[in-house]
Amino acid sequence: MATFIGGIHPQYNKLSASKPAETAPLPAQVVLPLSQHIGAPAKAVVAKGDTVKVGQVIAEAGGFVSVPIHATISGTVKEIATRPHPSKGRSPAIVIESDGEDSWVELSGCSKEDVEKLTVEELRSIIQKAGIVGLGGAAFPTHVKLSPPKDKPIDVVILNGAECEPFLTCDHCLMLEMAEKVLSGFELVKRSVDADKAYVCIEKNKPDALKAFTKLLEQSTFSGFELVPLDVKYPQGAEKMLIYAASGRKVPTGGLPMDVGCVVSNVGTCKAIHEAVYEGKPLVERAVTVTGAVKEPKNLVVRIGTSAAELLELCGGARGPIRKLIGGGPMMGMAQTTSEIPIIKGSSGVLVQIETDIDDAPERPCIKCAKCVDVCPMDLMPSILGRLARKDRFQEAANAHVMDCFECGSCAYSCPSRIPLVHWIKHAKNMFNKTCKGG
Ligand code: SF4
Ligand code: SF4
Repeated sequence: MATFIGGIHPQYNKLSASKPAETAPLPAQVVLPLSQHIGAPAKAVVAKGDTVKVGQVIAEAGGFVSVPIHATISGTVKEIATRPHPSKGRSPAIVIESDGEDSWVELSGCSKEDVEKLTVEELRSIIQKAGIVGLGGAAFPTHVKLSPPKDKPIDVVILNGAECEPFLTCDHCLMLEMAEKVLSGFELVKRSVDADKAYVCIEKNKPDALKAFTKLLEQSTFSGFELVPLDVKYPQGAEKMLIYAASGRKVPTGGLPMDVGCVVSNVGTCKAIHEAVYEGKPLVERAVTVTGAVKEPKNLVVRIGTSAAELLELCGGARGPIRKLIGGGPMMGMAQTTSEIPIIKGSSGVLVQIETDIDDAPERPCIKCAKCVDVCPMDLMPSILGRLARKDRFQEAANAHVMDCFECGSCAYSCPSRIPLVHWIKHAKNMFNKTCKGG
């Protein structure tokens, strides 16, 4: 059975599931934070007043675990200043004002024959130079993921087409509209780590995507590929859950997918890899779902750096006064304080909630029902972790594996007492890092 132990069945509310991707008009301005990925921030190589073309490097990688940032519109660098950031509050960013021309640098992709001759090092270098990071939200630089140490050989690659987060549909949209590019990019992932087996994993609530990939795989000459229809359950798309569902392997506590010979790649990342290698195109745009209490939920293909406010306007605006704006989905997304946040490489959604979407029921005492324990996909004891966090017993929380929590929210969702378990668990993790580890 292609699933994992634990998890929940929330209302999926995929309001934009049947909507084709719409290309958003070019923004008048983009805000491109220097930190859009895990690892060292990029370093600006342009200055105020410089003119830039789309695809031009405007910030170079700040180390091995880093990628460059490219201009996503053509125009003039207005400033390099601190601006709102969807996960960091505020951070340094390059602001470009459009010249309305959309002039690109010259792109030079590889022909099919050239691609066949590329070494794995050349492939990884193209991916790094294109600024590609995991587009599923984690934003880990892809070339690093594809460079495992020699003692961690990879034999399995997994295409993550689960998109289990409620409301979000941009990956589903890519699987329908760009299936060939997604599969081609995934084949390059397989090649770059020399894996034997490639699992294409899609949840069963996307029968059209399953059909599209069944057909593509029947027609392709790729070897070692297998389609895996996944049971519909949240958080099916989390790396560790997906690896277990597809291969039966369990990533150890504190471990990484490479510890069990696996690499997982999101569908948007694979599409970006195809475009970088075959078209020479750096990562300057991505698909984003704009949804919730907006007049017309949509899947939009947007230039990175466009503001969430602009995307809300393209969807007809909110259906009432906004009570909560979330970057991402309702389970793992982050509440935002302003709609001026830019779409960054890891942004998969913008979710609007109004008064009627918010449940303000008060928190009550724990009734020891163990529902949170039953649903935790990491086999943790969320009620105990929450209690330890409230009492500042961070070392004990760490001993109870609080650091293994990846904040999926299943425990808090299931809690009949409305205890904000994820809030307390995040607090314990932060405080353990600051106080017990001396960080
Ligand atoms: S403890 Fe963490 S991993 Fe477990 S259900 Fe809660 S948020 Fe998810
Ligand atoms: S689900 Fe809530 S009430 Fe039940 S044991 Fe967990 S924390 Fe307590």
